[in-house]
Amino acid sequence: MSAGLRVGHGQDAHRLVPGRPLVIGGVTVPSERGADAHSDGDVLLHALADALLSTHALGDIGKLFPPANPAFADLDSRTIVTRVLAELEERAGTARVTNVAAVVTLDAPKLGRYRDEIATSVAKLLGIGPDAVGVTFKTSEGLASDHVQASVVLGVTAVTPALP
Ligand SMILES: [Zn+2]
Repeated sequence: MSAGLRVGHGQDAHRLVPGRPLVIGGVTVPSERGADAHSDGDVLLHALADALLSTHALGDIGKLFPPANPAFADLDSRTIVTRVLAELEERAGTARVTNVAAVVTLDAPKLGRYRDEIATSVAKLLGIGPDAVGVTFKTSEGLASDHVQASVVLGVTAVTPALP
C-alpha cells in the first residue's frame, strides 16, 4: 500500500438567466437570476467534482453525466459529488479530501454573508471540517456580469494498492 497527496483542479461557469435558482455549494442564494444549466447549475460543486476526478485523471463530469441524458435534468449537484466520490473510492482506494480552496466569481448578489453556510454545506458533503473549506468571493468588475464562475483546488490523500 502507498499513500500520497494528490492535487486536483476544476473550473466551471454558467450564464445567469431570470427564473432559475442560484445554487452555490449546495446553498440556494436569493437572487433575481440563476444558472442556465441542465442540472441545478451549481458552479462550485461542478468545479469541485471535476477537481476530485482530476486527482486521478478520471476525466470530467461531462463524461460521467452527459448533458444529453434527460435523467440528469435539474439534478441536485450534491448527487454528482457523491457519485464522483464513489467513483474515486472505487478507482483509487480510500480517498480523503484534505482541504478545499474555492473561488467564486459573481457580480451580484454579494455572497459574503453566505460564506459560512456554503463552507459548512461543502464540508458536510465531503465529510471534512468546515475549517478545511476555504471560500473566496470575487467580482468580475463588470467584465462577466452575466456569468457565475467557480474554480476549485483541493488535495486528496489516496491509499492505493501497491503494484504487484
Ligand atoms: Zn456546471
